[in-house]
Amino acid sequence: MTKFDVVVVGAGIVGLAVAREVLIRRPAATIAVVEKEPRVAVHQTGHNSGVVHGGIYYEPGSLKARLCVEGAALMYEFAEQHAIPFERCGKLIVAVDAAELPRLDALEQRGQANRVPGLRRVGAAEIRDIEPNATGIAALHAPNTGIIDYPAVARAIEGELRAEGVEFFFDTTVTGISDGVSCTVGTDAGPIVGQQVIVCAGLWSDRLARRSGADASPRIVPFRGVYLELAATAEPVVRGMVYPVPDPTLPFLGVHVTKHIDGHVMLGPTAMLVPSRDGYLFRTMRGRDIWDTATWPGTWKIARKFWRTGIEEIRLATSKRAYVAAAARYVPSLTMDSLARGFHSGVRAQAVDRAGTLLDDFAISRSGAVAHVRNAPSPAATSAFSLARELVDRIEAN
Ligand SMILES: Cc1cc2nc3c(=O)[nH]c(=O)nc-3n(C[C@H](O)[C@H](O)[C@H](O)COP(=O)(O)OP(=O)(O)OC[C@H]3O[C@@H](n4cnc5c(N)ncnc54)[C@H](O)[C@@H]3O)c2cc1C
Repeated sequence: MTKFDVVVVGAGIVGLAVAREVLIRRPAATIAVVEKEPRVAVHQTGHNSGVVHGGIYYEPGSLKARLCVEGAALMYEFAEQHAIPFERCGKLIVAVDAAELPRLDALEQRGQANRVPGLRRVGAAEIRDIEPNATGIAALHAPNTGIIDYPAVARAIEGELRAEGVEFFFDTTVTGISDGVSCTVGTDAGPIVGQQVIVCAGLWSDRLARRSGADASPRIVPFRGVYLELAATAEPVVRGMVYPVPDPTLPFLGVHVTKHIDGHVMLGPTAMLVPSRDGYLFRTMRGRDIWDTATWPGTWKIARKFWRTGIEEIRLATSKRAYVAAAARYVPSLTMDSLARGFHSGVRAQAVDRAGTLLDDFAISRSGAVAHVRNAPSPAATSAFSLARELVDRIEAN
């Protein structure tokens, strides 16, 4: 049986950053990373907006608020050290009518409380100076928000880890974890033993938590986000990112216009509950995922609470015209002719508790020598290095 000091489950950006943090603190430790896919970053890490968030949206005092600001600085530092392309192209959150101003004020207060670098309020004229194609009556400008290729970051961490002797077990699905004097990680390729096990399983985090005896709540409910690609133009339609003022009752940021590090521009994403945790295509259905979502009491409570939002999301997901119109509110030059044929999608691991609360903050739980990341939604890619520090600090404190 293979034995390690630390076994990390999941080779998304969080699991990789956690393995790296353990190695920084314990260079002599033997570490294994176990991943069910054939390579790193196959799921959320490889299907996101590629934004290094500034830290504006999050409740002051929350883990997200602290770890996003710290994590963005660490992410830029890591990218510089590894020559990974990134751009601090800045972001505007635009209010298009007076009804949105109180929400913009509240966001500004949050951003200031969270010490988002360089955050400031701008008026209509300055919106056009920063983003000539955007329009609005007021906006927040976050110049430190940037774009990056997260799969490239994941591959660079993998390279660092391999160079230090970390063992990777790809195509290996963890089926359960039992905790004793040491922990046995059951996999479809045989058991792996670890003194400490850290589970960073993203969309499947609730299943592994349950299988190792942790609380069944929260459950992961998958929400697909679809992005539409804009046709290439001589001058990109945005220099950075333009976002609407989000609905504060939802953990999603609304359809935004984002430049990606390879230069193409995307509209999106939507947020629609889907029948599979890897449902990147409309036709993907998984009985187990449907069962887990449908039998969770929290799902029905969110369906009752957010049915209007659900209908709007279906409208956006089924009508490109509606989708373009949503973004054209603040970037009026966008029309159906702006679209290219391509689209991308990602599935968010949205943790929902029994009472139907959409968990917003990062959540870590521990039982014995097993630690679980139970909720690592956006901005967990931005915050991967700081979240890893937080998790390893908590383990060491015990
Ligand atoms: C549409 C979308 C847009 C987003 N935009 C942004 C953004 O712009 N900026 C930002 O900071 N964040 C963004 N996020 C969030 C960000 O992508 C995630 O928070 C982050 O990638 C989570 O990383 P992770 O390692 O926890 O999960 P993942 O990347 O999903 O990795 C988890 C890994 O665990 C593996 N695994 C699961 N179960 C098992 C098992 N039983 N055995 C072995 N392996 C297992 C999976 O195969 C997977 O590789 C976005 C997310 C989505 C979906």
